[in-house]
Amino acid sequence: MKSQYRVVVIGGGVVGASVLYHLAKFGWSDVAMLERRRLASGSSWHAAGGIHALNADPNMASLQAYTIDLLSEIEKESGQNIGLHMTGGLTLAGTPERWEWLQANYRIFQSIGIDDCELLTPEEAQRRCPIMSTDGVLGAMWADREGYIDTTGTVQAYATAAKKRGAEYYEETKVESLTQTADGWEVVTDKGTITCEHVVNAAGLWAKQVGRMAGVELPVSPLKHHYLITDAVPEVAAADFEMPMTVDLEGFTYMRQDQKGVLVGIYEVDHEHWAMDGAPWNYGEELFQEQLDRIENELMLGFERYPSIQNVGIKTWVNGAFTFSPDGNPLVGPVPGKRGYWSACAVMAGFLQGGGVGKTLAEWMIHGEPEADAWPMDVARYGDFAQNKRYIRETTGQFYSRRFVMTYPNEQLPAGRPLKMAPAHDAMTEAGCKWGVSWDLEVPLYFAPKGFEETPTLKRSNAHDIVAEECKVIREGVGLLDISGFSRFEVTGPNAEAWLNKVMASKLPARGRAKLAPMLGEDGRLKGDLTVLNWGDGTWWIMGSYYLRAWHMRWFDNHMIDGVNIRDLGEEYCGFGLVGPKSQDVIEKLAEQDISGLKFMGCDDFDIGLVRARVARMSVTGEKGYEINCRYGDHIKLRRMLLEAGADEGIRECGFNAMLSTRLEKSFGIWSAEFTQLYTPGMTGMDRWIDWNKDFVGKDAAVAERDGNGPAQVQVTLEVDALDADASGYEPIWANGERMGFVTSGGYGHYTGKSLAMALVNRDKAEPGTELSVHVVGVERPARVIAPSPYDPLGKAMRG
Ligand SMILES: Cc1cc2nc3c(=O)[nH]c(=O)nc-3n(C[C@H](O)[C@H](O)[C@H](O)COP(=O)(O)OP(=O)(O)OC[C@H]3O[C@@H](n4cnc5c(N)ncnc54)[C@H](O)[C@@H]3O)c2cc1C
Repeated sequence: MKSQYRVVVIGGGVVGASVLYHLAKFGWSDVAMLERRRLASGSSWHAAGGIHALNADPNMASLQAYTIDLLSEIEKESGQNIGLHMTGGLTLAGTPERWEWLQANYRIFQSIGIDDCELLTPEEAQRRCPIMSTDGVLGAMWADREGYIDTTGTVQAYATAAKKRGAEYYEETKVESLTQTADGWEVVTDKGTITCEHVVNAAGLWAKQVGRMAGVELPVSPLKHHYLITDAVPEVAAADFEMPMTVDLEGFTYMRQDQKGVLVGIYEVDHEHWAMDGAPWNYGEELFQEQLDRIENELMLGFERYPSIQNVGIKTWVNGAFTFSPDGNPLVGPVPGKRGYWSACAVMAGFLQGGGVGKTLAEWMIHGEPEADAWPMDVARYGDFAQNKRYIRETTGQFYSRRFVMTYPNEQLPAGRPLKMAPAHDAMTEAGCKWGVSWDLEVPLYFAPKGFEETPTLKRSNAHDIVAEECKVIREGVGLLDISGFSRFEVTGPNAEAWLNKVMASKLPARGRAKLAPMLGEDGRLKGDLTVLNWGDGTWWIMGSYYLRAWHMRWFDNHMIDGVNIRDLGEEYCGFGLVGPKSQDVIEKLAEQDISGLKFMGCDDFDIGLVRARVARMSVTGEKGYEINCRYGDHIKLRRMLLEAGADEGIRECGFNAMLSTRLEKSFGIWSAEFTQLYTPGMTGMDRWIDWNKDFVGKDAAVAERDGNGPAQVQVTLEVDALDADASGYEPIWANGERMGFVTSGGYGHYTGKSLAMALVNRDKAEPGTELSVHVVGVERPARVIAPSPYDPLGKAMRG
């Protein structure tokens, strides 16, 4: 072992070994992985080794697809047998809603390029898995690339392949402490001290402690998990093919063949955390005693699904632990505020996600950005609030217990909530507000009559008409919208303007003006769909999506220059939006200064009644509107005043569901849908905001796109002949049986009375009038490209 490396990877489980392999593969060979015992001696050795394609999150599904494809490659490269059994796999649906969901997901898989799936009847499924009972099964999805591997062999294969490419790894070498130095890290181990530029925390069950060594509190916890392996099952032994990997979602079990018997794994509804502060250092390759009382129900369902296992003995019980983040996705990437400290933790399914995690992290470290959109697993998707132990316990527990439970898009889950509430929260609840959550903050969805409960569904819900009324108020009268759930950053200092000019691709707004500002990465892909406000007193604001606060702050910090102060105002400012043609009438009653001259996209300080407010004339609804930003302490008062002042105009409180419907009618894109890190200005129409005459981050790539042949796919608006459901995202779009693109977001345009979708489609299909079709909840529906902004295409309402 040398005393200096470029990178030290801490942890020789499947994730650390994959990171090591990818670093070496992409050209960094001065890298070492340290493992305190033997390779795979954390969660990895006792995993069930199952690999399967389905994941409710399409980004995670494509990560898994990459990993599955990689497995045979590393086997070849390393010469190490990984015991790959590509049996194919079944996912069973046991309720009509689940069957609908599976059919919808089958189509979404096609959008992300996973084409080796098919839908099966229960009888067809049973022919492929003859030991399964079809009782209660309504349908199934088959995927070719599913099966299982030998876990220890796979870790060994990653490590051996990495070594062949020049990387090093050392067993029986424990990292004991970490100290940040001027140009990297000092890594103290029980075998000596190493200096390096980068450390990677791939410590699995010990990730918490290895985080704390660097002063990082990662939102991760281990939970226990059971599987059993049976003695030989006669039907299995007699078959001339292997049983497929089978996931019974309604039964909470997965099953695969193990020699002549089967392995049945259980996602226990009655979950149990273990060692929330990280596994003990002396924890080795031992297992917990099985806890039959905790798994009784799921076990019974398993025995019913595979009746022949009732007659054979159980050879092995495994009750082991592995780690989870609050949303179940990994925590990957540069840890904010800790230069050179990288996270590769909380990988719940290391054998099916570890390849993708390793690739993503290695690209990030070497090239500064990963190729894929890493947002769903970015460690910066959480803020400090997620360090709270109870938050971690509730959210990870909820995720675990619901691992196989279906979550509907309109469903609100309770864990870790309510956490942060804007001051008027209780008064709004009293007024009927139904809440969603963005990051740590409760955000209003809509206002319903007392006693109303929304039914979880994949289709239009019983809240449809309520949201329709709110949209009408926004379009015809005046609505009041709590806009605490927007992010606000304050930029000041002598170089504030120069810095903003560099990081934003647009022209900066003049004094007293606001402007839409795309922010690009060095590679020319999008990093933000922000709004910059110039308050005229040397203070600038950047406004954007609330849940991206830590993610954007990391970007700003990484691109900081001297003479600039940037502050996240998220704990200081909140506010209300007044939206609708009558909004000016209401605000004029309260403004102590003349506000009638505040033009569209103007901004200034006003006294709104007793509140000192920073007001911007804009609204994402496409209506005339005022965003009234106030301090947290003024929120209750501001709401009360606006409701009183607007009583004669019939003011009504509205929520984000109406905001989203109205923005769709204007073809206004939003982050995580129309805009992501994968897309470019040319694809998304963001190029129209670019100031080509100045220098900015990502300019070379943006110019290359502008002067090239143009993007293959561009953003369009579709009208869908929908029935009782609307597109939501990732549904494939077809022309004459050929896939032409996919939906980025969709919903019902209540005021226009149209089912709308925004989509990325092949350029030759982007002309208004082009007839296409789109799958909505698994059912193909006719759709056509329409001109952008089906509501008020000339923008008269918002400017008026
Ligand atoms: C019962 C069970 C069944 C499972 N089934 C599956 C499955 O079918 N498919 C699937 O994909 N996943 C499955 N998993 C999950 C899988 O095991 C984990 O996702 C995976 O092992 C995580 O790998 P890791 O490298 O992140 O962590 P770990 O395997 O825990 O590895 C971390 C390593 O870091 C080392 N380490 C920690 N601290 C230090 C230090 N300070 N210095 C040096 N070394 C250190 C540890 O010794 C350990 O070897 C299962 C898990 C369990 C418990």
